[in-house]
Amino acid sequence: MNASRHPALSATDPELASFVAAEEVLQAQTLRLIPSENYVSAAVLEASGTVLQNKYSEGYPGRRYYEGQQNIDRIEALAVERAKGLFGVDHANVQPYSGSPANLAVYLAFAQPGDTVMGMALPMGGHLTHGWGVSATGSWFRGVQYGVRADTGLIDYDAVREQALAERPRLIFCGGTALPRTIDFAAFASIAQEAGAVLVADVAHIAGLIAGGAHPSPAGHVDVVSTTTHKTLRGPRGAMLMCREEHAKAIDKAVFPGLQGGPHNQTTAGIAVALHEAAQPSFVRYAHAVVANAKALAAALLERGFDLVSGGTDNHLILIDLTGKDVPGKVAAKALDRAGIVVNHNTVPFDPRKPFDPSGIRIGTPSLTSRGLTAEHMPLVADWIARAVDAAAKGDEQALGVIRAEVADLMAAFPAPGLPLS
Ligand SMILES: *Cc1c(COP(=O)(O)O)cnc(C)c1O
Repeated sequence: MNASRHPALSATDPELASFVAAEEVLQAQTLRLIPSENYVSAAVLEASGTVLQNKYSEGYPGRRYYEGQQNIDRIEALAVERAKGLFGVDHANVQPYSGSPANLAVYLAFAQPGDTVMGMALPMGGHLTHGWGVSATGSWFRGVQYGVRADTGLIDYDAVREQALAERPRLIFCGGTALPRTIDFAAFASIAQEAGAVLVADVAHIAGLIAGGAHPSPAGHVDVVSTTTHKTLRGPRGAMLMCREEHAKAIDKAVFPGLQGGPHNQTTAGIAVALHEAAQPSFVRYAHAVVANAKALAAALLERGFDLVSGGTDNHLILIDLTGKDVPGKVAAKALDRAGIVVNHNTVPFDPRKPFDPSGIRIGTPSLTSRGLTAEHMPLVADWIARAVDAAAKGDEQALGVIRAEVADLMAAFPAPGLPLS
């Protein structure tokens, strides 16, 4: 460990410091393709590691339960104003600890235990917190699920409408965690209105694309926007809930005191910085580059014989269906990891395999775009993936090692904040 990077940490706790240093090297040398991950800026990294950490601030700016909030109030108010400006909403709450608690706050604000709630099924690309059985949201509420069509891999809005009118859910969630296509918020809005449901757009994955104008905005269409701040939005790990004025009180009450105690002020500061960065022209370019890279990578994978759910992508994410290859998703994901390419195994819609050992891998371009890779690099990335999957099928460990060295070589030319230069 280079002690000068984290001198106090290295002196106090060398064991822990060595783990951090190893993670820095790992992030520097690998090609990180997990679509929910990113690299925060140096400014976000700094803001998230400040003495704001030391302060208790239960309540909201101007209405706190602890004194000494002169600076914290300014920081939170700044984050709120920036969120409202960037996403074009009346109200923003920047306190949820992460995406899952943010969604739980939405249930608390609008539903009673036992109410029917509707969301996309987890194996179809939805999120656990959209009423899936193993989640608290699926055991405390009656979750009903919609999916995608088997032939197109796309949401069938007529089928969703029919189901919503039959089930009359209290809440409808749109958005998900493995959706490679644009979400039609207007279509969901008309369905929710007809069914008398509160509509929630969970844009955790695509918030940065929305901020940068590379995906349509849910603002004006939905009752509540829920998002994490650490995926394409490129902020610290956290979340926000945004809504029209009429729902502001219910949302704020649900987050605090309904669900949480003191907000994580260092995270609020990091969110404020990320929102400032996301309002710059450079972020508009970033968001569009993420999509351009994903489209180029999808095209290069199709050329190499891969089967992609829905046939490609409109956003930052690609779901590779390995059903036609001799390698299940987990085996492929682990082989790619040994080749220095970090992905996750994932179910594909109508997966013939079990959820803990599914047929797909999920990849995305937010991280590699943050490091400066462009569409010209995507054929090379697709080559590496094809070679690694092939090596996994043959059990060729040596080939994986060769790819790992090639990956590290390229990534050394594309640094990211907080990572050691090789
Ligand atoms: C990531 C994600 C979440 C949960 O966020 P955590 O911060 O992991 O709790 C919720 N909804 C969607 C759609 C997500 O992609």
